[in-house]
Amino acid sequence: MLVVMHHGASAEEVEAVCRTIREMGYQPVPMPGEQRTAVGLIGNDGPVDDSQVVCLSGVAQVMHVSKPYKQVSREWKAETTVVELANGVRVGGPEVVVIAGPCSVESEQQIVSAARAVSAAGATALRGGAFKPRSSPYSFQGLGKRGLELLALARQETGLPIVTEAMDEAGAELVAEHADCIQIGARSMQNYSLLRAVGRLGKPVLLKRGMAATITDLLLSAEYILAAGNPRVILCERGVRTFDSAARNMFDLNAIPIVQRLSHLPIIADPSHGTGLRDKVTPMARAAVAAGADGIIVEVHPNPDRALSDGSQSLFPDQFAHLMEALRLIAGAIDRSIAQSPSRAEPEVVRG
Ligand code: PEP
Ligand code: MN
Repeated sequence: MLVVMHHGASAEEVEAVCRTIREMGYQPVPMPGEQRTAVGLIGNDGPVDDSQVVCLSGVAQVMHVSKPYKQVSREWKAETTVVELANGVRVGGPEVVVIAGPCSVESEQQIVSAARAVSAAGATALRGGAFKPRSSPYSFQGLGKRGLELLALARQETGLPIVTEAMDEAGAELVAEHADCIQIGARSMQNYSLLRAVGRLGKPVLLKRGMAATITDLLLSAEYILAAGNPRVILCERGVRTFDSAARNMFDLNAIPIVQRLSHLPIIADPSHGTGLRDKVTPMARAAVAAGADGIIVEVHPNPDRALSDGSQSLFPDQFAHLMEALRLIAGAIDRSIAQSPSRAEPEVVRG
């Protein structure tokens, strides 16, 4: 339920609404806006009787949120959320972000060389897993803490903000110390204690769609993070499992406009895991931007044939550079642009 206050409602009137909501056994979430304040009600798992609230002074309208997720819905907040990463990178605004880098951090040489290559081509942020959720326990599991330190080094070299995955609560705290955005992978999308933990940490979160998750499941998982107090969530479509084995996953481009209608959170797309096939990554990356995604996350490796994970879906650096050229044109065609890599931003002109 959302209680919309009259323009100019007093602080006492807003407080009376909050008090009444608490007395009803729920939690009020005051949301001051430029035009008017609203007070959201959370904690209900079904319809709420609004009779005690509609009659309160200063209340203009009571709206019932029809979806099972509340705070992530467009009904709750009409304008798109912009999630700010380090160095002024904004996700959800007119600029399309490109997060690029290897699947896993493998060595200093590998991650710094990948970071330099994607930065030179104009990427906005660097990706790379230090904690890797692998289907087999015998596959490379990532460098762990050392991987995070190498990512920090790569950031120092290039200025690119870091996006990297956390697999558990302790890992999330460690990732939050080193990275600019905590990735929650497809396999962890329904790890609710992890979602609550990243909700408490308050750092930007990249929440990937589970491989068998519906869009409602994805939005409910995002709701866990917002309900724990963190509104800085970026959603990510990365393909779902289907009957067809022609590609690794079925990349669900429908999810982009559907989510944008249902939620105010930004949504990016991952054509690398969405297809699993290097030669399909570029066309689907182009399609995702054309479909209105707020960004893409794409795997790029300096030497994909030697990669310790996901080499067969990783772009060569020169393929990535070509992709960037195409993305600039496509973004321009839909009145957007590609967010500049922070290290390449023009220095501020000092007047005096
Ligand atoms: C990854 O980004 O390398 C990854 C493991 O992705 P997903 O969780 O989407 O499978
Ligand atoms: Mn990968």
